[in-house]
Amino acid sequence: MAIVIDKDKCVGCSLCLQNCPFNAITMVDGKAEIGEACTACGTCIDVCPVGAISKEETKKEGVDITQYHGVWVVAEQREGKLQNVAIELLGEGRKLADDLGCELAAVVLGKNVSAIADELGHYGADKVYFADADELEIYTTDAYSKVIYEAVEKYKPEVLLIGATYLGRDLAPALAVRLNTGLTADCTKLEIDKEHMQLMQTRPTFGGNLMATILCPNDRPQMSTVRPGVMAKAEYREDGKAEKIELAATFADGDIRTKVLDVVKAVGETVSLTDAKVIVAGGNGVGGPEGFELLKKLADKLGGTIAASRACVDNGWIDHSYQVGQTGTTVKPALYIACGISGAIQHLAGMQESGQIVAINKNETAPIFEVADYGIVGDLFKVIPAILDELDKRPE
Ligand SMILES: Cc1cc2nc3c(=O)[nH]c(=O)nc-3n(C[C@H](O)[C@H](O)[C@H](O)COP(=O)(O)OP(=O)(O)OC[C@H]3O[C@@H](n4cnc5c(N)ncnc54)[C@H](O)[C@@H]3O)c2cc1C
Repeated sequence: MAIVIDKDKCVGCSLCLQNCPFNAITMVDGKAEIGEACTACGTCIDVCPVGAISKEETKKEGVDITQYHGVWVVAEQREGKLQNVAIELLGEGRKLADDLGCELAAVVLGKNVSAIADELGHYGADKVYFADADELEIYTTDAYSKVIYEAVEKYKPEVLLIGATYLGRDLAPALAVRLNTGLTADCTKLEIDKEHMQLMQTRPTFGGNLMATILCPNDRPQMSTVRPGVMAKAEYREDGKAEKIELAATFADGDIRTKVLDVVKAVGETVSLTDAKVIVAGGNGVGGPEGFELLKKLADKLGGTIAASRACVDNGWIDHSYQVGQTGTTVKPALYIACGISGAIQHLAGMQESGQIVAINKNETAPIFEVADYGIVGDLFKVIPAILDELDKRPE
């Protein structure tokens, strides 16, 4: 979009200049003129008393969006194992591809990934683009973005979905810059606008208080990252089979500017919140790191894992990998027990899709009770031992 001024209508009142938030308008020979700082926000259109200002569609040189077809999913694998987020993106990608009436493809990079390419067919990919090379065994931004960039330039998908994992958060912006297109990070909802056949990308904004739907009308591909655990997984079909297309993966000296010397795995507990069926989460109300020991007893009893609100992570009581919410992990267990958690919108963003939510809070007006299926008003240090006692009475 660009702002244009009808010089014949402009009366030189300078109201647009005074109201422009970006100081992008100047007066030249008594007429308003739009400068480079313009963001096409449209404030000037609203204030112009004579209707001399309007917005005009701009078409970027060299991008013919009609050339782009198909939905692509970057399928992340680690040490030869397909990551769950790839299966979730295939589930969502299938819906988008069906709405657009196009093919769904997956892209997988690594070393010896041919078997993963077959697996992707079972999860609904019509085509799998794969690249096998020593340089792709361990992720580097340069190697991955070069291969995917060249593939996108050649095959021109209209939608490109990437998991908002550590890898995806590094890869997606690097690719978007190379492709000169837009990127919407951390989408929680993706839909097709059937009128214009374009992707509507919805994500939380302003600290989770608003949901923004973002379009990318003039550039392709339309790129989104989606967090693990947000979308429903594609179903495994025994008869699913994809056409496999091998991508070129050749690198010249200087193409890969970083060298991975060693991969050091994080020591200590690893937690997989996205796969947990039962989560017992603690908030400020647990009072300190030792409060989680009680929660752990309940989680162990129920075959689940513990998690935390950001307050506990910020207090240094527990590692960030346990955090649920907008800036933590999005979870969808069958049972989520929130203990001493107030229910801030940023926390709810990460757990409100859980099957059953039980809230234990001593404040009966805490917002967590609004999303809870069962609420227990009380002190968690009395309520949890009582639940444990009851569970102990039951046969294993
Ligand atoms: C940009 C942004 C991103 C954020 N991202 C996240 C996120 O990803 N995850 C997240 O969790 N937060 C996030 N937050 C922070 C969020 O706004 C809240 O501050 C946070 O969730 C509060 O944590 P809490 O509920 O544990 O603590 P509090 O709000 O302090 O609530 C503690 C609750 O415990 C209850 N309580 C106290 N003692 C007991 C007891 N003995 N027994 C029972 N109940 C008790 C109290 O009544 C209270 O309701 C984010 C904030 C911003 C601005």
